[in-house]
Amino acid sequence: QEDLFKNVVSHAKEYGYIFPSSEIYDGLSAVYDYAQNGVELKKNIREYWWKAMVQMHENIVGLDAAILMHPTTWKASGHVDAFNDPLIDNKDSKKRYRADVLIEDYAEKLNQKAEKEIEKASARFGEAFNREEFVTTNTRVVEYLSKKNGILARMAKSLGDENLDDVKALIEELEIADPETGSKNWTEVRQFNLMFGTKLGASADSAMDLYLRPETAQGIFVNFLNVQKSGRMKIPFGIAQTGKAFRNEIVARQFIFRMREFEQMEMQFFVKPGEEMKWYEYWKNTRLNWHLSLGLGATNYRFHNHEKLAHYANAAADIEFNFPFGFKELEGIHSRTDFDLKAHEQYSGKKMQYFDTETNANYTPYVVETSVGLDRMFLAVFSNSLKEETLEDGSSRTVLKLPSVLAPTKAAVLPLVKKDGLPEVARTIIEELKWDFNVTYDEKDAVGRRYRRQDALGTPFCITVDHQTLEDNTVTIRHRDTMKQDRVAIADLKSIIENEVSM
Ligand code: ATP
Repeated sequence: QEDLFKNVVSHAKEYGYIFPSSEIYDGLSAVYDYAQNGVELKKNIREYWWKAMVQMHENIVGLDAAILMHPTTWKASGHVDAFNDPLIDNKDSKKRYRADVLIEDYAEKLNQKAEKEIEKASARFGEAFNREEFVTTNTRVVEYLSKKNGILARMAKSLGDENLDDVKALIEELEIADPETGSKNWTEVRQFNLMFGTKLGASADSAMDLYLRPETAQGIFVNFLNVQKSGRMKIPFGIAQTGKAFRNEIVARQFIFRMREFEQMEMQFFVKPGEEMKWYEYWKNTRLNWHLSLGLGATNYRFHNHEKLAHYANAAADIEFNFPFGFKELEGIHSRTDFDLKAHEQYSGKKMQYFDTETNANYTPYVVETSVGLDRMFLAVFSNSLKEETLEDGSSRTVLKLPSVLAPTKAAVLPLVKKDGLPEVARTIIEELKWDFNVTYDEKDAVGRRYRRQDALGTPFCITVDHQTLEDNTVTIRHRDTMKQDRVAIADLKSIIENEVSM
């Protein structure tokens, strides 16, 4: 699994999907650039989402709000006071860690110990495994698991009560060491706000402190009435948005899974109070089906229902995906109540209510939101698609089996040889197809090597122009996943490709 993840990172770089940001200056931690193929894949995922959410729903419209917002927005939303991670420094190594992550990693080790015991015991199942051994194994497993649960519960409670001294005490009791240096010399735990600050205006006294938005949702809440009135929207209705969000993450690891600058695809759905649970279930289902439609494998998804809820929510679930480093959050579905609209009403002094023309009554709608990270979607799709295959003749190939609808380039057109007029015919095919699809031309190297390169790039089709083409206007079309080749008329290429790649 670790190897797979390393392959994902290096493949993404080698084939022009993702580069570290400002790499010539040794990069900037947890910031990445999308390269020539990455930008296409990312755009296609965004479009696939937009089409499913906006185009396919009569009662959902889009919005593109600014990244910079009036600073009071973040007081109302709770981000100024409550968007924190607990941090701890090691006094010897001067390294900074998230206290909760140190504790969670420790608890995870207990889990692994329990799993090892179970594995050992089941390997011996059927052998003479005496009663005494059975009891000791069992006791150990129970001991590890209950210790793990106790630790996590105590941590959650201490954080919930803002009792940071207790978080530190827990780290000391467990004798948790700096993972890199082994030192156990810790500072106090303190809360660290994740928002990036910036300034509006030039002169020191008139400058206004701003934040880069840590989520796209607030741009939708503050525009709720503008959209509702100008679009004559009737409840229930939704507003969808994709765009950058910024968080000063401390534990920034796992490639594009946790970035400091990332993109969200969010939809806030405004409903009548009391109907939020129905819509919450509806959106959980609808969003899971959207993920499943990409064909990455149903067993790679699971729901995680939250027991501990954020200050604004009355129900919340994550759709988790089986990333190369295990199941982790991909999308959140939250029932946010009327928390945000009420808070903005209070801070702005402006009414944020909906007038129901059927009952002639005003009310503050409840909100169910779906929020998925575009970069995490990218990682899910990309890592799941990267395969190393052994072929019948014993050789192997690297193939990026991206869902065809998301692939950056739909077809590569290849003249078999660089002469006899074949390149010219290939060019005319490109001229025709490029109106509908991203297509590419390649004449370098033997055709077998060109196929391999397109496999690694994730291109679903290779179209080869050979000498027969000059006689009967047919070409071969090779399918990336099966490597099967069919002889088809040039005139049919468009519909063949369209069949497989259209959204
Ligand atoms: P996590 O627990 O992983 O930090 P979160 O619960 O804080 O995530 P939300 O605030 O619910 O995340 O944001 C919604 C979605 O935005 C997440 O499901 C995730 O896909 C994405 N996301 C959040 N933080 C990041 C990040 N730092 N980098 C990339 N994507 C992110």
